Amino acid sequence: MSETMAKNEPVRMCVACRQRFPKKELTRYVCPDTTAELETDGPVSDPEMKKPGRGYYVCVQARCRDRFPKMIVGLMKKRKGETQ
Ligand SMILES: [Zn+2]
Repeated sequence: MSETMAKNEPVRMCVACRQRFPKKELTRYVCPDTTAELETDGPVSDPEMKKPGRGYYVCVQARCRDRFPKMIVGLMKKRKGETQ
């Protein structure tokens, strides 16, 4: 837990390492609705954090940024399986 973190600062979890960070330190990505689109277009970064759709947050660590495009496909497939 960071001592510099303000109490009511929005915090989000990095989907790759599952650590929590202040939202402003994370990059938001929006993913297409279907895994087919995701595999062709990939997740779209949303620096303004305003795009509609399901957002995923990734921290600044290179290993998280590397892992994210690959893992997000698996994550979406899993989520689909859960809702059917
Ligand atoms: Zn991370």
